Amino acid sequence: MSDAPRYRFAPSPTGFFHVGGARTALYNWALTLRTGGTFVLRIEDTDESRNSPEWTQGIIDALAWLGIDSTHPQFEGPYFQSQNAALHVAAAHKLFEQGNAYWCDLTADQIQARSKETGKQGYDGYSRDRGLTGGPGQVLRFRVPAGQTIVQDLVRGQVEFSNDTIEDFVLLRSNGSPMFLLANVVDDIEMKVSNVVRAEEHLPNTPKQQMIWDALGHTPPIWAHVPVLVNEQRKKLSKRRDKVALEQYREEGILPDAMVNYLMTLGWAPAGDTEIVPWQHIVDEFRLEDVNHSPAFFDIKKLNSFNGDYVRAMSLDEFIAGCAPHLENAPWPAERFNPEVFAQLALLVQTRVVTLSEVPAMVDFVFLENPVIDEDAWTKTMGSDFAINVLRDYAGAITSCEWNHDALKSALESWTEANGLKLGKTQAPIRVAITGRTVGPPLFESIEVLGREETLRRLQAAITRIG
Ligand code: GLU
Repeated sequence: MSDAPRYRFAPSPTGFFHVGGARTALYNWALTLRTGGTFVLRIEDTDESRNSPEWTQGIIDALAWLGIDSTHPQFEGPYFQSQNAALHVAAAHKLFEQGNAYWCDLTADQIQARSKETGKQGYDGYSRDRGLTGGPGQVLRFRVPAGQTIVQDLVRGQVEFSNDTIEDFVLLRSNGSPMFLLANVVDDIEMKVSNVVRAEEHLPNTPKQQMIWDALGHTPPIWAHVPVLVNEQRKKLSKRRDKVALEQYREEGILPDAMVNYLMTLGWAPAGDTEIVPWQHIVDEFRLEDVNHSPAFFDIKKLNSFNGDYVRAMSLDEFIAGCAPHLENAPWPAERFNPEVFAQLALLVQTRVVTLSEVPAMVDFVFLENPVIDEDAWTKTMGSDFAINVLRDYAGAITSCEWNHDALKSALESWTEANGLKLGKTQAPIRVAITGRTVGPPLFESIEVLGREETLRRLQAAITRIG
């Protein structure tokens, strides 16, 4: 078991959990499960100004929602980067003692002035041989060797970096605190990480980090940089512009299985003619070598369509249980809610919703004393010549008919035919009178659930309002 790979997921707790982070976590988790390896969760919490414990909890909850369960035997952590600060500093000093790093006291302004003078961009290695020994105002910089750095990446293939394009980068700030590049490597070494699967935006960091791995005497991990997620305009998903918070999708009633399946298909597809496949199938099939290089379009419409499929595949009991959290803030008074009636309605709406958060608005007409009337729908349907007649005659017909949806439908069909109209037309005012809207669950089934007395009361209320 000791050779089993060690993957890791290393988020920074600085905000809502980004769908891109979720995909990276899932890639790591799928690989961990298939290879019998370990998934290490490391919270990179060294940016004190942006961290907060609630974001850390958010990460753990979001992972659990995705099925990455912190009690699973292949899950290790969470570790906290901030607790390893002494190790990061010790590694930096080791690099200094070995000659791989040197102190530098130039300020940002001085660096800029030199750069203007020499015409070379960035820091030019001015302090390499000045023999500074550290102290206030000095940063520790890595001495980038001449030559080339070759990164072998499972997604991107062989990526070559010419070292003269990489400046001597900072390892320790002038206040002594370690930079991300260093802390991230030292933690990976300490946590015996063998495989780094992360977002493509870190690819430019990779040659620098590989140099640190080498200088600290360790074999670098197997790298894989997965393509960024983009929006419809092919712009990188951003939290200012796009809906990126996993939490938001969860609240809107996207099912975790649908989200997991969809995220895994961003840049990768299971073999066969459907992308909708069970998690175990993904675990068996997923290979980084098959992940596409190009940016992946995070298509909310496609996510919704996946979700609709997953909703329809639920058993009725699962669907009802899944709806429960969405009913908590529903618009009806709690005492009017009836779980048995809801179960009858659930059967009617399960095939008609894409996300579970749509459910309350589809069934609220039953649990509200009076349906909320959509005024546009009212104007459109109640203004027609036949509206008042159909409402009145239908009320008459159903006062004594059998109470089931077939009988309720025949009653309207007879009237519709007798008046040379189409059922689609005559249903509309009845639906608005009963539900307040023009769309909703199947009408006659809804009327059956609502009951005779209440249906007649609503038809009468609509007649009075028109009259
Ligand atoms: N903390 C880094 C981030 O959230 C992750 C770096 C890595 O995966 O190596 O972007």
